[in-house]
Amino acid sequence: MYDMVIKEGFVIDPSIGMKGLLDIGIKNGRIADILPDISVEGVGSIISAKSNFVVPGLIDAHVHVYGFPLCVHPDIIGVQAGVTTMLDAGSGGCDTFNEFPDTTVPEAITDIYCLLNLASKGLTTMPKPELLSRKDMDIPRTIQKLESYTERAKGVKVRTVGPVAKELGTGLIKIAQDVQTSTESRLMVHIGDPFDNTPSVTPDFLPMLKENDIVTHMFTPHIGGILDGNGRVFPQVSEAVQCGVCLDIGMGRSAVSFDVARRLLDQGIEPYTISTDLTLPGRTNPIFSLTEVMSWCMALGYSLEDVILRTTYNAARVLGMSHDIGTLKKGSTADITILNVVDGPWTFSDTDNGNISGQKAIEPVLTIKNGVAILIGKGPHPWGWLPNELK
Ligand SMILES: [Zn+2]
Repeated sequence: MYDMVIKEGFVIDPSIGMKGLLDIGIKNGRIADILPDISVEGVGSIISAKSNFVVPGLIDAHVHVYGFPLCVHPDIIGVQAGVTTMLDAGSGGCDTFNEFPDTTVPEAITDIYCLLNLASKGLTTMPKPELLSRKDMDIPRTIQKLESYTERAKGVKVRTVGPVAKELGTGLIKIAQDVQTSTESRLMVHIGDPFDNTPSVTPDFLPMLKENDIVTHMFTPHIGGILDGNGRVFPQVSEAVQCGVCLDIGMGRSAVSFDVARRLLDQGIEPYTISTDLTLPGRTNPIFSLTEVMSWCMALGYSLEDVILRTTYNAARVLGMSHDIGTLKKGSTADITILNVVDGPWTFSDTDNGNISGQKAIEPVLTIKNGVAILIGKGPHPWGWLPNELK
């Protein structure tokens, strides 16, 4: 007998190549069965997903949910937005980390993991860069914090922004890699600096990166991006992707250009993960929600399956958790998102004065977290979740 059955939804799960009208049976917080017609006799809770899509719980691989004033409450952009798991990308450093295990994680329904900023104070220095001098790093304490909380602190985040990045160049990446190596953890590197005009070090450090390292803000129009001055992809980018380096969108409030995105797509460079870089101001403009970022990726030419892959299985792989989340395979955690896809036309803006129109918009309908149904919140726009209509 199941605790819950989700009936008549169109299931899409790229992790197991599953696509079709199917029912999902849930028991003890886990996926028990996916079958064409599951009997609901004696079932505790029956959810109709008729005319909707049913996908693994969405995972946002780049958010900011603790440790500085611009962070946003995790559940508002999490379970109340169709997102069951998220990765905080360096909001906190070793000085400000304790808020994460003591308050942020236990108070949220959404599962939250984090990368620790290489800078001791994390993003509390915003809008100033977090690394103004070498004294802003405390490597032994950063390692100690990562080692003391391995379950949820997944690795280290470094931004190639500010005076120390300029002074050390690729040496800054080497320091972050030393932390990564001694803690056997993940590394995410932020590229793109809106304030700097010195030559980019991105092509220099890309060959240093390894499989599963993450480069975020791949669509940045700023110095440090992955296109050269002629709009060609640096050869080091293709080589890094071949080595298994993961390119992440991390839309953010200044980090996305549709022109860059199109040039990359034309040259065969695609995101491994679609993520928001959501903060409190970003939620009102221009990011809004993970489903809206997925919708603008569809406006760029990605299919529904493409954007689901990059917000489920691929994002789970980045967390090293694809055995249990980002998938609907039998026995995995019952994290599920029910989505509606609405015909447009819709219009989307980037952060570089660009606009594109698209025909499809995704909105969250219901979240299932650990087998429990969570209602969707009221949405980032005054009218809800759907993007601006193209007039
Ligand atoms: Zn960020």
